[in-house]
Amino acid sequence: MDMYQRTVGDTIGFSGIGLHTGLPVSVRILPSGEGTGISFVRRDIPGSPVIKAKYKNVVSTSFATTLGVDGVTVSTVEHLLAALYGMGVDNALIEVDGPEVPIMDGSAVPFVEMIEKVGLSRLDSPRRYIVIRRPLKVSENEKYIYLMPPGDADGEDLLSIDYTIDFAHSYLNRQSFTFSLSPGAFKREIVGARTFGFLKDVEMLKKNGLALGGSLKNAVVIGDDDILNEEGLRYTDEFVRHKVLDLIGDLALLGMPLIGRIKAYRSGHALNQSLVTKVLKTPRRWKMLEFVEAESATVPVLSEELVTA
Ligand SMILES: [Zn+2]
Repeated sequence: MDMYQRTVGDTIGFSGIGLHTGLPVSVRILPSGEGTGISFVRRDIPGSPVIKAKYKNVVSTSFATTLGVDGVTVSTVEHLLAALYGMGVDNALIEVDGPEVPIMDGSAVPFVEMIEKVGLSRLDSPRRYIVIRRPLKVSENEKYIYLMPPGDADGEDLLSIDYTIDFAHSYLNRQSFTFSLSPGAFKREIVGARTFGFLKDVEMLKKNGLALGGSLKNAVVIGDDDILNEEGLRYTDEFVRHKVLDLIGDLALLGMPLIGRIKAYRSGHALNQSLVTKVLKTPRRWKMLEFVEAESATVPVLSEELVTA
């Protein structure tokens, strides 16, 4: 368990097109000080407004997670936020010159490779974790997410996720994936999984001004009984793994890493955000874990103190 906050070791720059807007966007990820969290800055708008990556700033969860403040938005933040969370980046300033984070290849691989290239810088402040003490649940019709206390007492297992998708489709129906979060496992098992969609929905999305930048270069497209991508799948269960990636990106909006066990069934961005909101609004169900410098060593302290999210 990492005791100290981290930021990126150097500035990261890249560009690409937005999945939904189809617009080109340039991004710079800059190191940021302890306690600042993750923030987006719209450099293309006068005054360079800042949008903090916090659950309170979620303005839409349809087909992507969109953050906004005072009408200024940045969308499709989830894969980049997942990469930062999964690699242990607590603080960073993300400058964008457009309304959407580039989709890249539809996965989090490009982000993770760029983070690895600059490495991480350790900051002086301790990292704070949310440790679940009593179970909670969010659901909508047959979809649900359970969040339970961590399984093992020694805290090795920070966040475990058991995710099931179940589509009424002949090619893609039920897939389950169980995963325990660490930077190594995240890189091996999750980051490569790409965005996916059904061919029958693509036309509807485009008619509604969505998925304008979508192509076989940045999404797996599912036809009647096979995928359209000639290169095939990266994992046989790539679809459910991508949903785990999305969930990790949405959990980043808690503002602190989570320690607990998740069981999710057919969830999506909207239900993921309901979970994040419920956690932060029911502080009786968790405690904050923070490491403090004692005289002889750094020791973990579970705090009753409530935090304002
Ligand atoms: Zn996604």
